[in-house]
Amino acid sequence: MARCLKLLFVSTPVGPLGSGLGGGVELTVVNLVAALTQRGHQVAIAAPESSHIEAAQLIQIPGTLQPTAHTQWRDTPAIMVDNAVLANQWTYAHQIQHSYALIVNFAYDWLPFYLTSFFDVPIAHFVSMGSLSRVMDRAVTQIHEKFPGTLGAYTQAQVDTFPKGLTWQLLSSAIDLSQYAYCDTPGPDLVWLGRISPEKGLEDAVAAAQYTHTPLKILGKLENADYWQTIQQSYPNAPIDYLGFVNTKELQAIVRGCRGLLMTPRWVEAFGNVAIEALACGVPVVAYRRGGPAEIIDHGKTGWLAEPDNIESLVNGIQQLDHIDRHYCRQQAETNYSLPALGERFENWFETIIEQAPQG
Ligand code: UDP
Repeated sequence: MARCLKLLFVSTPVGPLGSGLGGGVELTVVNLVAALTQRGHQVAIAAPESSHIEAAQLIQIPGTLQPTAHTQWRDTPAIMVDNAVLANQWTYAHQIQHSYALIVNFAYDWLPFYLTSFFDVPIAHFVSMGSLSRVMDRAVTQIHEKFPGTLGAYTQAQVDTFPKGLTWQLLSSAIDLSQYAYCDTPGPDLVWLGRISPEKGLEDAVAAAQYTHTPLKILGKLENADYWQTIQQSYPNAPIDYLGFVNTKELQAIVRGCRGLLMTPRWVEAFGNVAIEALACGVPVVAYRRGGPAEIIDHGKTGWLAEPDNIESLVNGIQQLDHIDRHYCRQQAETNYSLPALGERFENWFETIIEQAPQG
């Protein structure tokens, strides 16, 4: 085994771990900590106050949460709120840096990219979203020029949204498969999982549920209440049931009994952790053919890729669900998205960054 690395993770500043406000990157952080700990590494996490994570050294950082990038415009300047948790996290990281071999940034924010030059310890930047802002495009480009090899991302589709010519480490994602039970005997329901926010396109899933008269369970953080209200008003008779935001244990217990997962994002989803969570339960996925889901789903075998923003195509996908072998879905999750493989990929990336870092 490689040497034991002491790592400091600086978590997303948009929400405490376990709150759901951070979306899929929260699950990625939790799973990555587990995978690296299993490999003998020591991981500490500096995360917003009220975070929850088991079996890790957690440093709770106070301060105001950062607004999410998808609520801003492409030309919005970098935002720094008063008493920003983002700034407080990086002040902490700067003070404690010499206790670690590497710092890992999970924020899609300008500040950590800018600060990288002022640290003695190398910083790896795991970028969890596609390109959404000009300020971030420049920040990412400058990191590529000054610290080549330190940019990581989930998928090729995600990096294709950024300026051309940058080098990225593609790391994909993974889940702890032991936490997701397989189910061969689903009920009639469909399920939709995610933050309830316009870029997630929930209204299309609701429209398809209404058209096919199929009950749709909705699970996830209510991020934009006005958006949710508009959907309910637009589809008053849709057979939908909103069950709130639940933890992984409850989530898989509900998902595994469903016929299929619908993924209807309007944006280029960087990955889509919910897709692999569903597959792990044996649940096929109907998704728009773009972004991460188009790389995850094997069309006709683990789900159906529909034409983006096209309800008719979505409905067609729903009609194919019963032809999908659920056991094959679980197998694919086991083969492609296991925690040990994720741990190995990140470990190799971190080792390379540490080896190539200028000696201070
Ligand atoms: N999720 C959850 N509880 C819910 C609904 C969703 O914990 O009730 C989690 C889910 O496990 C996944 C995340 O929310 O990790 C959504 O991540 P995804 O990568 O699909 O999308 P993102 O929010 O990052 O755009």
